[in-house]
Amino acid sequence: MTQPARIAMLGGTFDPVHIGHLRSAVELRDALGLDTVHMMPAPQPPLRDAPQVSPRQRLALLQMAIGDTPGLQADARELEREGPSYSVDTLRSLRQEYGESARLVMAIGWDAFLRLDQWREPERLFAFAHLVVIARPGHAEPPSASLRELLGQREVDSVSDIMAAPYGNLLHVTLPSAMAISATQIRQWISEGKSVRYLLTEAVENTILREGLYQRW
Ligand code: ATP
Repeated sequence: MTQPARIAMLGGTFDPVHIGHLRSAVELRDALGLDTVHMMPAPQPPLRDAPQVSPRQRLALLQMAIGDTPGLQADARELEREGPSYSVDTLRSLRQEYGESARLVMAIGWDAFLRLDQWREPERLFAFAHLVVIARPGHAEPPSASLRELLGQREVDSVSDIMAAPYGNLLHVTLPSAMAISATQIRQWISEGKSVRYLLTEAVENTILREGLYQRW
């Protein structure tokens, strides 16, 4: 009998995509035995003074960074949708694409996890997907009472436990190369003329510098 597909969505602003994102995606793929990790840029970056890099440019940098990496895919579906983008709608669309027996995972870093209870109808995520939370160095704040209440008894201890069902469980993972890299720090350093070498793929760094992106951030 063929195994159900194992699919993850890793959403974010990717402003710009850095090796913390890329290593997380590859190591998540390997840790969970995933067929595909959909790396999904969100349309709106968080409010900033002078957004100068468009969603299409963020997507192009992401595509460039992924290249032909097996199992990683830049997915533009949130950029193609009209109006605000909610993860639950994206997960519904992935569920429709892969069918009801697929193991569908929404992967988020610890910082994003802490804000989960402020999302729109967060409990509905669990009707479509599992939640996998990736530990992130420098982010150790504990979950709030309301977040703990939202999560209830969903937490499981192992990959085989989470993959026993198509959706509905929570797993915390610490990936081997956990890296204290953030896009905020990268934008800051570029705007100050400091080097970001090795924090980005070479092609992404070259494109950013050549096109003058993030230099007025
Ligand atoms: P910013 O600094 O602009 O907030 P970011 O570096 O946190 O950006 P996002 O695009 O917001 O990047 O992140 C997308 C997802 O990847 C989030 O779930 C985030 O928690 C996770 N993530 C980002 N950087 C890392 C990292 N170094 N290690 C693990 N997870 C990460």
